[in-house]
Amino acid sequence: MTADTGEAYGTEAEDVRRFWERLGLPGLVDVHTHFMPERVLHKVWAYFDALGPLTGGVEWPITYREDEEQRTGLLRRFGLRAFSAMLYPHKPGMAQWLNGWAAGFALRTPGCLHTATLFPEDGVEAYVQEAIVRGARVFKAHVQVGAYDPADELLDPVWGLLAEAGVPVVMHCGSGPAPGKHTGPEPVGRVLARHPRLRLIVAHLGMPEYEDFLALAEQYAEVRLDTTMAFTDFSERHAPFPPRALPRLADLGDRVLLGSDFPNIPYPYVHQLHVLERLDLGDDWLRAVCHDNAARLFGL
Ligand SMILES: [Zn+2]
Repeated sequence: MTADTGEAYGTEAEDVRRFWERLGLPGLVDVHTHFMPERVLHKVWAYFDALGPLTGGVEWPITYREDEEQRTGLLRRFGLRAFSAMLYPHKPGMAQWLNGWAAGFALRTPGCLHTATLFPEDGVEAYVQEAIVRGARVFKAHVQVGAYDPADELLDPVWGLLAEAGVPVVMHCGSGPAPGKHTGPEPVGRVLARHPRLRLIVAHLGMPEYEDFLALAEQYAEVRLDTTMAFTDFSERHAPFPPRALPRLADLGDRVLLGSDFPNIPYPYVHQLHVLERLDLGDDWLRAVCHDNAARLFGL
């Protein structure tokens, strides 16, 4: 990490540390951070820059447009005990290659939870099994970008494998920031009906269908939600969380996990923490969400 970058984010790193130190935590666990091959990440950034249709056509300046070493260095300075490398294919024939990269990234990156991904295609069952055997601890499925039905029959044995292995899958299945052909609670509800023990982590708290996804979590004990981008000023403008649902969020406090979308966020990282604090659900809730729930899930 260069001195320049260190200085640029110095105050923010202090603010982040102050947040978890005040709570008496040993650090943070963030289940939703993006790391992928540089070439792929640059394409994602170019997509946000061009306001591609899946961004909802909203101005989306990337805050942490740094090289990989600087980005991982920054997460260490924030005091993240663990984080993920969410990566995902937008077409067939790509997931296995991404999984190979992610295994290497996890090996060379302290704190990174070995992440893998999938796509409904021939061979998916075999490469998901292989990733589990190689030690993958979390999967990412992107129903919006991948434009597939999570209840596709090619994925049926895969959800069975993951449920049996107890390996969680973070799924972008809500219809934010823009709906996809198979987003929303209905398709994923069909998956859960067949695989009720699947450790599904609903990304972005299911934004904007928050209440429907809260209902799935209430129905299925292994369903969790990540906070990624929820409650931020940015998201509240486009997809506000309904205040009447706050008590349900409080009750699910042992199944809500901190997620941020670092580095692809249009505001500083610490903002995600401050907006959780301003929900006013109490320090016990914050401790569970920002560290303890994920530490338990991943056996940290
Ligand atoms: Zn994300």
